[in-house]
Amino acid sequence: MATSASIGRYLISTVQDHESPERDPGQVYKEVPASAWAPYRSFALNENGKYRSQWRGHLIRPAGGGGPYILVDTGMGPGPHQHTGRNGELLQSLAAEGVTPPRIDAVVITHCHGDHIGWNVTWAGDRPAATFPNATYYVAAKDWEHYSRPENSNEAFARSVRPLKDLGRLKLMEGEIDIADGIRTLPSNGHTPGHQCVLVRSGGEIGVLTGDLFHNLAQITEQTWCPVFDWNTAMSRASRQSVLGRAQKEGWVVFSGHLPAGLSIGRVVLKHGRPEWLHL
Ligand SMILES: [Zn+2]
Repeated sequence: MATSASIGRYLISTVQDHESPERDPGQVYKEVPASAWAPYRSFALNENGKYRSQWRGHLIRPAGGGGPYILVDTGMGPGPHQHTGRNGELLQSLAAEGVTPPRIDAVVITHCHGDHIGWNVTWAGDRPAATFPNATYYVAAKDWEHYSRPENSNEAFARSVRPLKDLGRLKLMEGEIDIADGIRTLPSNGHTPGHQCVLVRSGGEIGVLTGDLFHNLAQITEQTWCPVFDWNTAMSRASRQSVLGRAQKEGWVVFSGHLPAGLSIGRVVLKHGRPEWLHL
């Protein structure tokens, strides 16, 4: 039931922000009949037949001290959030790891949905400031272009990504980009136009931070299932099958974006010829 794991010289820790309202799988996976959930019900859904997504980021840092300190995704943000009336806890979760915002050197955004960008910017009245004042924020150019079009714009992007440009903190990326030694982006488009994973290679080990490549444990086995949140399901399916296939063949440690705490880090293993999740 791990909430952190080492990849070579790096320690990668989940930093919890908040959790989603309870979700009805029939509403989220509209093309999947209720009966198809039967094999997964006992572990992928709760006793009410529903599930919650965790909203979190991941902190990557060298286990032996020094730098760099990299935050991947920034959760849903300060709140208070409507469904709980409570605030997001990302900064407390970082503090519990002994990390204050100025310590972060880079923020990598897997994609520009509201539950991954919420703490990017802190607003004082109508004045935005970078929450992580010393960080470069890495955003995929394809997402920036998509959400900058008036027909795709939304409040979360306007408040949490767009100001980064004027603040001089934004770095737009195309393709695979090196963030730091052994840490590189892995484009995996489909959930959004610019969705990307983050690969960490160190000491002969490989870890992958998967953002919204999948949302529920059932999708490890049912890799063609797509939630309504996927922008292009043909692309998101292909990306999911490609990255999870490589993870299984090469023994990568997978750090998932939304799985329950304690189950969110694992490996994809073959059992009776089908891929399954084996949490650390
Ligand atoms: Zn998400």
